Amino acid sequence: MLGTLTNEQIERVLHSQLTGRIGCHAGGRTYVVPITYAYDGESIYGHSSFGLKIAMMRENPEVCFEVEDVQSQVNWESVIAWGRYEELTGEDARAGMAVLMRRFLPLLTSKTARAPDETPDVLTTSAIVYRIRLSEKTGRCEKPDLPTVMG
Ligand SMILES: Cc1cc2nc3c(=O)[nH]c(=O)nc-3n(C[C@H](O)[C@H](O)[C@H](O)COP(=O)(O)OP(=O)(O)OC[C@H]3O[C@@H](n4cnc5c(N)ncnc54)[C@H](O)[C@@H]3O)c2cc1C
Repeated sequence: MLGTLTNEQIERVLHSQLTGRIGCHAGGRTYVVPITYAYDGESIYGHSSFGLKIAMMRENPEVCFEVEDVQSQVNWESVIAWGRYEELTGEDARAGMAVLMRRFLPLLTSKTARAPDETPDVLTTSAIVYRIRLSEKTGRCEKPDLPTVMG
């Protein structure tokens, strides 16, 4: 059964996932590329070194973002959002990296591995920290059909 996600369900999918896809378009070409992200309720945060996606988003900052939670081919939730690419500098870059680290550090620890105590200082690396400030979001889902109760 196909359905539409509520705003609450859309937010849950965006908060729960770690990998999404950026769709960008510049110079007559469209590029869809997977990234690891964090979501703070308003924006998608990501980090990258310079390459094609950063060049394209600098040229045309209006981008699309897609993420899905797939349990099976008949049990999934998917969100598509649109927003504006913003490259973060200075204290904004530090704050953006902190959003990413808060999301990922708990996932990087185990009995044998311990996360670093401090957030890496993005101002001393070549990492580009950015956010996509979301302005529009839609959600769709498919759920298995419930078995018919025979009377
Ligand atoms: C699960 C997952 C998580 C990832 N998380 C991040 C992240 O957090 N940050 C990050 O920067 N990158 C991440 N990557 C890698 C990302 O998908 C890109 O490969 C990488 O960022 C380089 O992209 P670019 O546009 O700078 O490519 P460039 O280095 O400029 O290279 C562009 C060329 O490489 C090809 N190319 C680039 N990426 C891919 C790809 N994934 N698959 C096939 N062809 C490709 C393009 O088609 C193009 O021809 C992730 C990938 C996966 C699968």
